[in-house]
Amino acid sequence: MKYHDSVAKSTEYLGPALSLMAKQTAAMDPVSYAVWYEYVAGINPALKIAIDEHLRNGEMLDETATYDIFNSHVAGIDEEVAQRFSDGLQKVMAEMSSSAAQAGDQAGQFGNALEKWCADQVSSNPGKHRDVETILGLTRNMQGSIASLKGHLDDSRLEVEQLRQEVGKARQDAIADGLTGLTNRRGFDAGIAACLSAADPGSGGPSLLMADIDHFKQVNDTYGHVFGDKVIRAVAQILKDHVKGGDMAARYGGEEFVVLLPDTSTEEARQLAEKIRTMVERVRIKRTADNWAMANISVSLGVASFRPGESATAFVARADVALYASKNAGRNRVTVAQA
Ligand code: GH3
Ligand code: MG
Ligand code: MG
Repeated sequence: MKYHDSVAKSTEYLGPALSLMAKQTAAMDPVSYAVWYEYVAGINPALKIAIDEHLRNGEMLDETATYDIFNSHVAGIDEEVAQRFSDGLQKVMAEMSSSAAQAGDQAGQFGNALEKWCADQVSSNPGKHRDVETILGLTRNMQGSIASLKGHLDDSRLEVEQLRQEVGKARQDAIADGLTGLTNRRGFDAGIAACLSAADPGSGGPSLLMADIDHFKQVNDTYGHVFGDKVIRAVAQILKDHVKGGDMAARYGGEEFVVLLPDTSTEEARQLAEKIRTMVERVRIKRTADNWAMANISVSLGVASFRPGESATAFVARADVALYASKNAGRNRVTVAQA
């Protein structure tokens, strides 16, 4: 359970949370409330910093900003805790298993020494036979118990490792787009938040490309949705082929994509956008039924570089404005947002 406040305490937070929430433009939905509850309760320092940045700039939180904050600072936390927990557990169990193995070895050596000593004792004094047998039996029992403890620990360790992999996979799945395999919107929101909080002003970045397929509705209307999906996948593949290292290509929604370039200057980002534009222009997409190939696919792009101090929402919005300038200027082109 994430929240531990009593009824009285949580009621105390209700008033200020509602009043802050009412001042924003976002709907007063449960996501919004979770964000403002954590803000008022003071239990989430990173979330507080993110919100204070908006408020300081005199911005009201709209739906996108609120969901951004929720995704980055509320929703992800339990997964992180789970990951840390299973990592820790894995380590403790590995140490215990190794201690048990060591104890088992020592008990074994002790048993062997005892056995040898007993054999000598019994041959010189046959009357002691029963006592010696008892001690030896107890030693062997102890050795057996340690071996079985080690076995259990090893089994549990495997289970924890499996769980850890499942958590990792679930985490990956949660941020992957099903159609294209690119990062999805949720992953992008978290990625850009992390990128901006770690932004190094000296590196020339971060820069952002926003791309939208031109006249895509017409493609769907003429050739059907299945073919439309193929076009989306082809554009996604071109983006994948053009990102490297810490860059992130994501499907922002429908036929709209973003590429986040943490260490790329405006000019390099513009060149990359131009390269992507040319590659899309050249692509031919075959219809499976008759091998007929469609040409003339194009994308319009907007490029923006981060202005220190601006929010992720404002940064994305500037790339979007540049993209729409490309659309208005005739499509199949790149526009760079003003610095
Ligand atoms: P513009 O050049 O101005 O971008 O025009 P457009 O036709 O590309 O833009 P519009 O926003 O009018 O249409 C986008 C279309 O994309 C409408 C929607 O049905 C389609 N679309 C969104 N997601 C998918 C998808 O996953 N698969 C397919 N096949 N179509 C999609
Ligand atoms: Mg479009
Ligand atoms: Mg669009």
